Formats: sequence, structure tokens, C-alpha cells
Amino acid sequence: MPSPETVRARRGDAESVPAVDNMLTFDIEEWFHANYDGLALPKSAGGSNFRANMDALLRLCGETGSKATFFVLGTIGEQYPDVVKAIVREGHDVASHGYGHELAYRQTFEQFYADVKKSVDILEHVTGTKVIGYRAPSWSIVARNLHYLEALERIGIKYDASIFPVKTFLYGIPEAPTHVHKPIVGGRELDLFEVPMSVMNVPGRRVGYSGGFYFRLFPSFLIKRTIEAANRQGRSAIVYLHPREIDAGERKLVLPYKEHFIHYYNVRGTKAKLESVLRRFRFVSVTDHLRRCHGLQA
Ligand SMILES: [Zn+2]
Repeated sequence: MPSPETVRARRGDAESVPAVDNMLTFDIEEWFHANYDGLALPKSAGGSNFRANMDALLRLCGETGSKATFFVLGTIGEQYPDVVKAIVREGHDVASHGYGHELAYRQTFEQFYADVKKSVDILEHVTGTKVIGYRAPSWSIVARNLHYLEALERIGIKYDASIFPVKTFLYGIPEAPTHVHKPIVGGRELDLFEVPMSVMNVPGRRVGYSGGFYFRLFPSFLIKRTIEAANRQGRSAIVYLHPREIDAGERKLVLPYKEHFIHYYNVRGTKAKLESVLRRFRFVSVTDHLRRCHGLQA
């Protein structure tokens, strides 16, 4: 006989969801920002649906009462300052996604520092607010450049959300902690929070489920059930998406089969899926979550 807990979970009514905040995040970049080895990708848009997709994301947040952190590229801040201002006006957080979507582990420490600093300066100038969060392009903080977090600390960043605690052919630190923590680099605890991407445990490994390709791949019920299971244990889940992932009509990169599948699978169904997840759970920005649950002072 199933336990009352199981019955409630199956029925899935809103009352059964515990009052745990989840974190909503978007990586704000153009349709051509991607990092695939050996592929020459375009460097400018030449027209895109960026503005319309940002309008759609902000509207969706407003309609569902969700707050989010938008990790914005410096180049987006330069090109679309009005869009970045609108994010702040709607009560969301603007954080940094670096300047030009370069992989962090392909940069030297100094290049990485300069890239993030440039983006922070641009975004602070545009928004008039302090930028305290960062997410690396394509999860490019990995084991071998973990010390790059010291560059973020030096810039005044208070949280990093660049680590995906999984193993994939593109990224990940498979053994990294899965909870919010203060990372230790060179024997010293850094003065910033690491907010790792959410994973679920399947036999033998961890797998992403609530962002990007995984969000597009997995059915809505599985994503909701996994978020609900995390929330029942008092843990918050993180969702992440890009503007291009809610728009099947956006311009597309020409990619080999595998990369095309990862980049574009089920883009058509993602906006509706996002809406249904946002209506089901409570979502806040990373900063709000850290203030409420981890004593962030900023
Ligand atoms: Zn990105």
C-alpha cells in the first residue's frame, strides 16, 4: 500500500508542494552564442528574435509571479541596454555571464579576470545596480580551473553558479558538492557562495534534469516530480534556459547531428513546459535565495 506521502505526490496538487524556494535562472545571449569544439560559429547576429524572446520571458515571469536571475553577457549589455534595464525594472537580478561567451578554461587567469570585470562594469553602468553573481559560458569552470573563482572573489562577486556536478562530454565536475557551499581553493575558503546546478541521481551517476537540454528532453511530469522530491527534502532546485530555447522560429546555427540535437531538441515544446513548471512551484532569484537561506549580506 502506498504511503500517504506517495499518494500526495502522485495526485500532485499544489497544496502538497512544500514551501521551498526554487531558483529561476536565464543565460542571456544571442542565438549564435555557443561553444562547440572545432566549429567556427558566427560572431554577430544580423537580426534575431532576441527582443521578442526577452519580452516573452519577462512576461512569463510576471504572469507566474516568478523572480529570476538573468546571467547577461557584456556584449548584450552593450547592444541591448534597454532590455537589460527592463530586467531590473521587473524586479529581477542581473548577474554576469562574462563578456563575449568565451570558455573560461580556454582563457588564462588574467584573461578570465579581465573578461568578467569588463562584463560587470558594463552591466553595472547600464543597470545602476551592483553585480554580485556570475555564471561561466557553457559551465566552463571545471576541476582544472577551479582557482578562477579567486578572480571572481577579487572582482567582488558574491556567488558563482558555474559548476555542473556531473560528467558530460562537454563539461562538469562529477564529484563536486551538489549543495550551496563556500568553495575551498588552495586550502582557503573563498568569500563567495558556489550555487551548483541541480542534478538527479540515477543508478551509477548524476544527471541534469532542470535546465537547457535536460529541461527540453525530459517530460514535464519527471521534471516536476524531481523538483518536488528535492523540495520535500528541503532542497531548492535550479532551472536554467536561454532565450533561444523558447522560440522554434529563432535563427539556427548549422551544426553536426549530435550538436544540433543537444542544441535544438524540442525547442517547440519548451515555452509551454516552462510555464507549467513556473505555475507549479515558487521561483525566486539566486540572490533572494542566498539572502533567505544562507545569510548573504549583499
Ligand atoms: Zn551561455
